[in-house]
Amino acid sequence: MTSNETLIEVKNLRKWFPVKRSIADVIKRRPRLWVRAVDGISFTIKKREIFGLVGESGSGKTTTGKLLIRLLDPDTGSIVFRENGNPVNLATLSPKELKPWRKKLQIIYQDPYGSLNPRMTVKELLMEPLRFLEPDLSEEERMERVVRALKRVRLTPVEEFIVKYPHQLSGGQRQRVAVARAIIVEPEFIVADEPVSMIDVSMRAGILHLLLRMRDELGLTILYITHDLSTAGYLTDRIAVMYLGKIMEIGPAEKVLTDPLHPYSQALISAVPVPDPTAKKERILLKGEIPSPIFIPRGCRFWPRCPKAFDRCRREEPKLKEVEPGRWVACHLYD
Ligand code: SF4
Repeated sequence: MTSNETLIEVKNLRKWFPVKRSIADVIKRRPRLWVRAVDGISFTIKKREIFGLVGESGSGKTTTGKLLIRLLDPDTGSIVFRENGNPVNLATLSPKELKPWRKKLQIIYQDPYGSLNPRMTVKELLMEPLRFLEPDLSEEERMERVVRALKRVRLTPVEEFIVKYPHQLSGGQRQRVAVARAIIVEPEFIVADEPVSMIDVSMRAGILHLLLRMRDELGLTILYITHDLSTAGYLTDRIAVMYLGKIMEIGPAEKVLTDPLHPYSQALISAVPVPDPTAKKERILLKGEIPSPIFIPRGCRFWPRCPKAFDRCRREEPKLKEVEPGRWVACHLYD
């Protein structure tokens, strides 16, 4: 289902946020500090691929997702979107030039309770993006799109759902409305940011299956952001593992999950519970917490927690390199 054609090519993408300074900092001329949320990352996403971005909270996943659809402006780097073979660097587009791209690039947020306006009915929630992004449609055409989108996300009978308010829906149904809002404008690329982490466990499989179906039926390309490796294994074609603003490993989902190469991926995967309680699995315990993205360790940023760190790791930052076809790792062990 995934095509071999590259849809998005990200190169050296960086986004730092300034830390607010106190009056004392200004008076004492203390240097400005920065949260290095995304610190120079490169990867590609293929057409119709579901690409997983995994890592602990604070690793820069959500910032990356927002940069890719220009909800945030990058400091440096490029985000080249290949539309019908024509490369367009989204990173350099002005707000005016971005306007026609808004409908092609959509996002589904983690929180289906906070992302839907509680005072709007399902019909109004779905009409809103159409009014904004496709103002030339007639009211009748909009209604047709609403009905089609609700049928696609299996919120039927449609007449029953369009009059409901978010509080009258379950968490899973609200997330289906969020998916319908994203697909109603016929996008090409969707960022799904932890879309199942806040809904009941019993409804998660349904939403993941819905995303898979949307990829297959609508030819969508999806960036799936998660800290949950089990759902990433179910849904994604390839996975990138992020740590403190950098990518540590990229590879086919099955390979990364069954045979992780980077010590950080190995530790993350060792912590995933296995369904068979008799199966032996050694858990790799990492030292300490993820460090602050303001004070990133020199050398390999993972070295203070890495069970395999050696001298060079403290001095030199490893580059992300291809160690076997399709598998990229940033670790000196593979030099
Ligand atoms: Fe561990 Fe060194 Fe590899 Fe970093 S470069 S992951 S510290 S072994």
